[in-house]
Amino acid sequence: MPDSQKGPNPVGSVWSVVEQQGGELSPVSFELLAEARALADARDSQVCAIVLSSEHDCTAESHIDPLAEHGADQVLLVCHPALGDYASEPHIEALTDLCQTLNPEIVLLASSLDGQDMAARLSLRTGGSLISDCVGLKVNTGGVLQGSKPVLDDHLYAEIYCERRPQVATLRPGARAAEPLHTYQKPEVQRIEPVLDAASSSVSVGEFLPATARSVSILEAERVVAGGAGIQNPDGVRLLDALAESLGACSAASRVLVDSGLMPRDKQVGLSGVVVKPKLYLALGISGAAYHLAGMSESEIIIAVNTDPAAEIFKVADLSAVGDLFEVVPALLERLAQQQAPQELAA
Ligand SMILES: Cc1cc2nc3c(=O)[nH]c(=O)nc-3n(C[C@H](O)[C@H](O)[C@H](O)COP(=O)(O)OP(=O)(O)OC[C@H]3O[C@@H](n4cnc5c(N)ncnc54)[C@H](O)[C@@H]3O)c2cc1C
Repeated sequence: MPDSQKGPNPVGSVWSVVEQQGGELSPVSFELLAEARALADARDSQVCAIVLSSEHDCTAESHIDPLAEHGADQVLLVCHPALGDYASEPHIEALTDLCQTLNPEIVLLASSLDGQDMAARLSLRTGGSLISDCVGLKVNTGGVLQGSKPVLDDHLYAEIYCERRPQVATLRPGARAAEPLHTYQKPEVQRIEPVLDAASSSVSVGEFLPATARSVSILEAERVVAGGAGIQNPDGVRLLDALAESLGACSAASRVLVDSGLMPRDKQVGLSGVVVKPKLYLALGISGAAYHLAGMSESEIIIAVNTDPAAEIFKVADLSAVGDLFEVVPALLERLAQQQAPQELAA
């Protein structure tokens, strides 16, 4: 199809704002592109991946091929020294200016902390509309974006329409699988160096604190230690976190543990939480309800600890320990400490 038929903009009218960590593309960037590709195909338009990057990183050019392979027709490299590690002001100013100049129809961002922050302010500053935390998106015949969003404690899905342009939406990580294309063409690449307000370009990230079992994203962790109702109390949570730290894993939870207030919502694994596929999933005091299994049963190795020998979780576990987690976990921690001690002495 000639470019002239693909929409009024010099760049594609479905934008996918790329998320990076330490200059690397986050997996959710590819999930966003899969959604953007489907929306663009439905509207006969193009997908433009927006890469916000510092001057130094504008070796972000190494991102071009993977982005094309996952559905981008065009890549816009937006380079400014203030656009390195995420800081609200410069990123939002750069993105708002771009939207006001190039008028995309749809702007997709990840439903992550950074993505939610950008999306809310972007829709406000551009006068567009926002559907946040969607698990599915489509465009209706009038070209209006419609997002599906879990509501009422995830018992219902609300269908929300975007009336104003740009139509901004955030997509929940894991809601859509990345879909590498069988064939793709070299994308059209444009490089833009925005002029940012002195106040926003003076905002920068001072220091990154090392990740802990709590702070690392469960979506990217290779090892996950998850607790359920069997964790019972703050002492149980301390054991869960200690085991996760000791294994270099990320802590996570079942919905019951999250609802009890003992773990934050972004740590919930399951159908209405996030879907994870780590190399190791250690389930402590989790019964194995279908809603939970939907979020972790594809993990490579599953180890379960439960007092109930008939617990459903054992049906998907590769290794099962029938026992009280308040006895099993301290024993495991002791064993791990013994193994680590000789290595520390040798170092
Ligand atoms: C629409 C909807 C969406 C949902 N989405 C999700 C979701 O995304 N994620 C999710 O997890 N759930 C979800 N649920 C809830 C789900 O159905 C279950 O209620 C939940 O997963 C159960 O959590 P649990 O296994 O921690 O608790 P329980 O089912 O209460 O199980 C606790 C387990 O701990 C064991 N135990 C108790 N004490 C100990 C001990 N000291 N040592 C070892 N084991 C012990 C018990 O034997 C039991 O098997 C959803 C439900 C609905 C209706």
